[in-house]
Formats: sequence, structure tokens, C-alpha cells
Amino acid sequence: MRIAPSPTGTIHLGLARTSLFNWAYARHHGGTFVLRIEDTDKERSRADSEAAIFSGLRWLGIDWDEGPEVGGDLGPYHQSERIDRHLLVADQLLQAGRSYRCFCSRERLDAMRTEQEARKETPRYDGTCRELDPAESLRRAEAGESFTVRFRIPEGSTVVEDLVRGTVTFDNSEVDDWVMVRQGGNPTYNFVVVCDDADMQITHVFRGEEHLVNTPKQVLLYEALGLKAPHFGHLPLMLGKDGKKLSKRHGSVALSQYREEGYSRDATVNFLARQGWALDGETEIFSVQQLVDAFEIGDVSKAGSIFDFDKFAWMSGEYVHRESPAELAEHCTEFMVEAGLVTREELSADPARFEAALLLGQERVRLYSEMPATIGFLYMADDAIEYEEKAEKNARKHDDRLEVLGAYLELVTPRLQAGDSAEELREAGKAFVKERELKFPQLFQPLRCALTGKAGGPDLFDIMVWLGPQSAVARIEQGLRRLI
Ligand code: GLU
Repeated sequence: MRIAPSPTGTIHLGLARTSLFNWAYARHHGGTFVLRIEDTDKERSRADSEAAIFSGLRWLGIDWDEGPEVGGDLGPYHQSERIDRHLLVADQLLQAGRSYRCFCSRERLDAMRTEQEARKETPRYDGTCRELDPAESLRRAEAGESFTVRFRIPEGSTVVEDLVRGTVTFDNSEVDDWVMVRQGGNPTYNFVVVCDDADMQITHVFRGEEHLVNTPKQVLLYEALGLKAPHFGHLPLMLGKDGKKLSKRHGSVALSQYREEGYSRDATVNFLARQGWALDGETEIFSVQQLVDAFEIGDVSKAGSIFDFDKFAWMSGEYVHRESPAELAEHCTEFMVEAGLVTREELSADPARFEAALLLGQERVRLYSEMPATIGFLYMADDAIEYEEKAEKNARKHDDRLEVLGAYLELVTPRLQAGDSAEELREAGKAFVKERELKFPQLFQPLRCALTGKAGGPDLFDIMVWLGPQSAVARIEQGLRRLI
């Protein structure tokens, strides 16, 4: 198994899914998972993009058995370091007549393409240089004429037994005599991918469906080299809700974005695994171990999968809600610190208190990044609580707000000082409302505004217990002054 990303951008959701399926298959079958960096496009390849691929894969928990940073017997694992071998193979194919030099100028090729497109034909090379006498071809090359090297597509048809799509037959007359080596000697993707996959003894290639058009070219090249082609599996396209290929128009496709936005990592893996694959007919939430145990390429669907961003956030919530306090603390710390609410030192000085705070927010967030907005008020200085418009409006709806809040303060102060539990406070609160023949919002809306400044949020009694008597009382007293 291998993945062969080009380090030309960030790691996107498609590459993340392709990586996951290759990796899961290798882990399921005890195979070797190889990472090769296809960095032959020097203009576009970037070191930071390569680093982003490594870090994205590692974040997902996808480790590679051979590749950059880990080594292996069949390296080098950067395609650019294999160029000598590529040129050697190119030469062999030329000698054997399986490829030929093409001296057609760019202008001629462009004009041909324009004409073909005008006639609504698939653009393709017309074969002008196909039958050039080899001696003549060599002479022109030696005379310094520039040329590309094209692969000579034989007649007949090419059958690909795709592990996802079944038997796919291509009529060779539809496959162009494609360029293997560009003018100036740079080999192309379809050529080097075959060289490298063969040299690295790759047995399985799973990649996006957009590569299916390349597969007959590659299969024919394996044949020309007298090699057995690997097994191919083309993974269904990931689509937006409108059925179009997933792109930036639908939402960010950069994996790093979701990491930065505080999506649960395990949920991300789970959700990516659901793009074209299912554990069974119904289980949405499954672990990476379940994926590895059950993953078979034959179960991957042919139909494009819809990447539903709302469902992704929902799934993150499913994972966040199940985390232990310690896990939650680990995942939320940086977001709390970055929001400027509290320092890392303050949090680690009293982890139990931080965990208790997180428990108040846990059911209310789907992403770790939502935690500061949900429980941030707990860590604010009492006099720094700002009232959101809606919270204040809710509180002011009640003409008796000051009277109710004042009476409640008298009730709750000694209880908080005595260390009442949230449950005890809740009972007392209910009794207070009942005795005075109030409706709950008459107490809760002014109280919530005073304690949190927000219109909604965690349970008020839990909040008061967490704040402790001094802070809870100070906030209610402040409310009595500010809600006049
Ligand atoms: N470098 C190619 C890409 O990034 C690899 C395709 C393949 O898996 O063959 O799309």
C-alpha cells in the first residue's frame, strides 16, 4: 500500500480519506504502508506543504511503515531523488520502441487541440511522429531539436479489475499517446508513478476516482515493462450537498482547518471513514480499531459520497460528549488559553477545578473551540462580566426582577456559605419559586444574566457551586445594581 501525495498545498479532506483507507487496509491485512512524496514538480512543491502532510497524517493517527522520516529498504521516498532511475527506464522504453520521440512544436499541438475541441472531439495527439524512423529520430535529437517522449499505445483494449468499481474496460483507441518525458527531460506523473510503484513493490493502489482516467495508461506501461500491475481501487468522489465535487465553495477542504477549529480528532477519522465506507448498515460512531478490523476495499461504495459539514460537526459533538474530564482538559486547554481567559499555569495549578468547569460545558459544545464561549464566564473577574443584549433583555422583561433577585440572594447566600450541593440549591430554588407563586424565568433569567451575562448556558446551580459563595454573591449583587 502507498500514498503518493504531491507537496503542493495543504493536506485536504480527499487526501486524508485516501490515506486513511490505504492505511486501514494495510493494518487490516498486515501489509506495509508506504509514504512517497511526489515532488517532481519543482515549481509547485514546497517544504512547508510536505511538513503539513506529515503533521496532518500524524494528527489523524496514520503512521507509515516506510517513507520520509522513518526510512525503509526501498527508498529514497522523495520522487525527485529517483530521477536517474526514471531516465534509465525512459531510455529502455525508447530503445524497445514502446515509446517514441515527438518533435511537434507546442504551437502545432495547441492548434490541433483547438481544432479538435471545435469539432467536439476529445483532444488527442494525431500520431505525426509515431512512425518516425528511429535513426532519423535519434539524428534530430542529437542535432539539438527539442522533443517530448510519448508512450506508444498499442491497439486493442485495456481491462482494469478495479477493487471498488469492478471490471472497467478501456478501448485503447480512446487512450492518447501520452507524454512520458517533457521537453527538457522532465518525466511526467503517469510515467514516474509506475516506475516508483514497481520499484517499491507496491501491490495495491487506492486513490481518488479522478485518477481512473490515468489507470489504462499506467496499466499499459506496466505491460510494456513486462511487469505485473498492482491492484487498483478507485475511491468514490467526495461531493458537496449539491452533488458537485467537494471544493472550497462548500466549506474549507483543508484538514488543518478542522484541527484548528477544534473538531475531535477521533470524530474526524470516523467521519472520513464514512466517506464511501460503512461499518454496517447503521452504526455511525465507530472507533479506528473497528475500522481496521472491518475494513475491506470491496465494501467501498462506487457512488460519490456526500460530505455533510453539519453532520461532521454533529459527529464531533458525539465524541466530545463522551470524553473523560482529563481528555477534555487536554483538548480544550489551548482554546481556553488562546481566548485569553486563563493561563496554562492557572489551569494546571488546579486541574480538578478546570475539569469541573469543562463538565459544565461538555454537553453544550461540539467543538473544543466552542468551550471558551460556553464556560469562559466562569474564569472572568466578577466585575468583567458583560451582559449580552439578549441576556439583559430577558432579565428586564420581568418588572419584579430586583425584588426577586434580592430575595433570592438572601436565601442563597447562607446556603452557598454552608457548602450546599447543586442538588440542594436546586431544591431550594424550586421551593422559592413555588412559595412566591413565580414562574421559573422570573428568577432564572435575571439570575443567569447576573451570573453569566448570557442568555443560555450550563445549569445555574452548578455554576454557583463552581463559582463559590464569594464570587456568586458578588455577581448577584452586581446584577442588583446593573439591572435597575
Ligand atoms: N501524486 C498523485 C496525486 O497527488 C498521486 C496519485 C496516485 O495515487 O497515483 O494525486
